[in-house]
Amino acid sequence: MEMVNCKINGIAVSVPKGSSILEAARKAGVEIPTLCYMKKINEIGACRICVVEATGARGLVTACVYPVSEGMEVKTNTAKVQKARKTTLELMLSTHDKKCLSCSRSTNCELQKLCREYGVEESSFEGYKPHYELDTSTPHLIRDNNKCILCRRCVAVCREQYVSVIGPNDRGMDTSIGTAFKVNLSEVPCISCGQCVAVCPTGALVEKDDTDKVWAALADPTKYVVVQTAPSIRATLGECFGLPIGTNVEGKMVAALRRLGFDKVFDTNFGADLTIVEEANELVERIKNNGVLPMITSCSPGWVKFCEYYYPDMIPHLSTCKSPQQMVGAVIKTYYAEKVGIDPKDIFSVSVMPCTAKKFEIGRDHQNASGYPDVDVALTTRELARMIERAGLKFTALPDEEFDSPLGEDTGAAVIFGATGGVMEAALRTANDWLTGKDNLDIDFHAVRGTDAIKEATVEINGMNVKVAVASGGVAANEVMKKMQSGEADWTFVEIMGCPGGCVNGGGQPIQPQYVRDTVDLKAVRAKALYDQDAAMTLRKSHESPVIKTLYSEWFDGFGGHKAHHDLHTGYVARKK
Ligand code: SF4
Ligand code: SF4
Ligand code: SF4
Repeated sequence: MEMVNCKINGIAVSVPKGSSILEAARKAGVEIPTLCYMKKINEIGACRICVVEATGARGLVTACVYPVSEGMEVKTNTAKVQKARKTTLELMLSTHDKKCLSCSRSTNCELQKLCREYGVEESSFEGYKPHYELDTSTPHLIRDNNKCILCRRCVAVCREQYVSVIGPNDRGMDTSIGTAFKVNLSEVPCISCGQCVAVCPTGALVEKDDTDKVWAALADPTKYVVVQTAPSIRATLGECFGLPIGTNVEGKMVAALRRLGFDKVFDTNFGADLTIVEEANELVERIKNNGVLPMITSCSPGWVKFCEYYYPDMIPHLSTCKSPQQMVGAVIKTYYAEKVGIDPKDIFSVSVMPCTAKKFEIGRDHQNASGYPDVDVALTTRELARMIERAGLKFTALPDEEFDSPLGEDTGAAVIFGATGGVMEAALRTANDWLTGKDNLDIDFHAVRGTDAIKEATVEINGMNVKVAVASGGVAANEVMKKMQSGEADWTFVEIMGCPGGCVNGGGQPIQPQYVRDTVDLKAVRAKALYDQDAAMTLRKSHESPVIKTLYSEWFDGFGGHKAHHDLHTGYVARKK
């Protein structure tokens, strides 16, 4: 590889030819501020916050796109550079709603941070200021273009999801980001993934906050308020309280939820185990009865919506299993309600999810096994963190506590649901035991682990070669579906997750600034916390869970039986684009 030698603020560094000044600076340990830049996804040099002085260049250059050359000397923090950055920030503020006091991104806003660092509070360019109505049309997010800095990260990431329902409208001072013809987001084929929210540097895109509904239920003495937390939340919530990325905070999370006043704290992991036994049974039935194959997982509501919009002809491939969130919700208001003698109408069921699409999922048809909604409110990890803050809990000082019984018991197979490949591995562990009739000890299926967007593997089970595929993110999902449509694929079982890397990187997870997203493999570090927990557990196969065995002996009439089908399975609709 041809290398180029240059100096960043006097620090000598050697980088591959073609590298940008920003890449060279990062290698030299010098951080240059950015707003629009996203590594490999949005390298457009539009915001001009990253300007620097470089020998051989005329005027200031944008570090994120300008290539280094041999012998180049770069200065990233001169008076001229600082003045230019301040002017740029003032221009941004000239059209910005400066409502930091109540903005949910305050203290985690990349614009606010830069304004603080550069001492910019007001703009000397006040004048024409467009006003935008908020788009509150979807259950999952709110767009407030009065806080938008036109960085286009959301546009780029939506394109990466193979959806592309947002882009720039109009020109000049009137440029705004939104849908074509400025219709509401609810009127276009958005898959509710929330990836745009996770990359927005400001409060222009935020999840729809449902915490007030939960506070109201907690204050209502007639309500029995139950919460469940998805597998990945324990690996990410700590980031909201300053803990290192990848810290498993399961015990403190449970303690916090109990102190918030929830009557029972259950684990969506229980639903993940339940999903595996129902899904494995469905797969075996399809194989035996010449059903539609490959069967595709259905636990990611972003992926399910993607399939309904973009591949409606492939809906028969989707497993009919509800997601773990909905299965837990269904069991809480049926089996558990009867067990503790509470009318399901008095149960308020809350979930904490990595995903904004879960807010959409709870309102889908056929998600009310008891006659009442399986789940009443789906919160994101970020909303839970805000509730903990509002309650004044010192999260890091909380003791470790355990989930409530019986719907808080789980296996290692459920824990890894939060990472791409986790559902497949969990299913393979159960299928392997069921088909061989043995308690197999070799249960780590490394071929389906890792953060690659698409993974394929051939797994030998009971003398059969079972071909499987795992995909995460819209582009990968699209590629897999194209292969299936063309008949090129010969998989038996396919796992697809709507967000790249799976739930650990869901659109409802803690927002890390772009510098961190560019330099830390968030998906891998967060997933490691889950795989470490799985490895340390005694029970690591869903079908070995005692609570699953009890549930089928006390309540359901066998895997895929009539009652299980009514409560735990669902249907899909072809959606018009
Ligand atoms: S987006 Fe940032 S700068 Fe704007 S109001 Fe919110 S916190 Fe303040
Ligand atoms: S939620 Fe997902 S699909 Fe919808 S606009 Fe955002 S990135 Fe695009
Ligand atoms: S909504 Fe956010 S991500 Fe999209 S262009 Fe505006 S500031 Fe950038």
